[in-house]
Amino acid sequence: MTTNQYTSYPFSEFQGALQEVTSELPVPTGTEVLVRVNYCGVCHSDVHIHEGYYNLGQGKKLKFEDRGIHLPVTLGHEIVGEIVAAGENAQVAMTGPALIYPWVGCGSCSVCQRGEENLCGQPAVLGVHKPGGYSQYVMVPHPRYIVDIGNLEPAHASLLACSGLTTFSAIKKVGTVYDDEAVVVVGCGGLGLLAIRTLSLRGVKNIIALDLAEEKRQLALEVGANHVFDPTTDDALERIQAAANGKCVAVLDFVGAESTVELGINLPRRGGKVIVVGLHGGEIRYPIPYVTTRAISIIGSYTGSLPEQKELVEFAQQHDLFNFPIRTRPLKEAYSALQDLAQGKVQGRVVLDNR
Ligand SMILES: [Zn+2]
Ligand SMILES: [Zn+2]
Repeated sequence: MTTNQYTSYPFSEFQGALQEVTSELPVPTGTEVLVRVNYCGVCHSDVHIHEGYYNLGQGKKLKFEDRGIHLPVTLGHEIVGEIVAAGENAQVAMTGPALIYPWVGCGSCSVCQRGEENLCGQPAVLGVHKPGGYSQYVMVPHPRYIVDIGNLEPAHASLLACSGLTTFSAIKKVGTVYDDEAVVVVGCGGLGLLAIRTLSLRGVKNIIALDLAEEKRQLALEVGANHVFDPTTDDALERIQAAANGKCVAVLDFVGAESTVELGINLPRRGGKVIVVGLHGGEIRYPIPYVTTRAISIIGSYTGSLPEQKELVEFAQQHDLFNFPIRTRPLKEAYSALQDLAQGKVQGRVVLDNR
């Protein structure tokens, strides 16, 4: 490999192996910025993208190839890296590791103008629609997506781009929680643990965590949950309601399966919210009069905005968010790291290391 070449790990068919590919290093033009990847988180959405679809229930699938995702795909949207080159119209002053906001939109539609680029109908997301951080280098379209991380630990900071941001944006949707109210967190993987930690730091007094796995429930207790339950037992609903004193104000569902949303929708008090983040899939049926009379909101939450990203980086500088296991693995182990995550073998989070 010459100095003008770099290695990336794309896949060229859905569910196929990630391959080691050597390419010519691109030269940034216009507002583009070339970033050398230091760290890149291996996120559960990478598993879904690699599978090629979301499960819509009843055998139906939402296929990514019909959604503007073209092969080959280089995954990786939780990137911390250093600027190495910039186009003639890119103003960059920053040095040292920085966080890359990956949820790039068109930048000009009304959704983007409102500051919600993550919800743009013409997305150009790094690691999804554009090459991401399972690579030694990544091209960022504009310096505004490069966020200073100050003195944050770079490997940990990478997690702020997706799991951190997704969790933060979902928690902001909860709104005010009074001391006698409870928030239920469904699923104690990376996002769930981060949510429990963040809720606890924000002063929520009664955090109830649900997970099938005993060891994940244990981790949930360690990071700040007040009660934990296995949601599949027959009396789960009653036990959760008892722990909440009937005052569950919001459910944050990081699984997003039929069974979890069905359970979650029954938990909030009147006026409460069910915030669905997980993408496990399926569909739900629920009586419409109950939606009205209980005045519940069922809210989808997808990643977060650039302003939220900056707010989160500040929050993370003031609080130690990452009190759960974070393991680094060499970049070249990207495929096995992805497979381990898909098979549920990862506790906490894995971050690829390309220093
Ligand atoms: Zn847009
Ligand atoms: Zn992600």
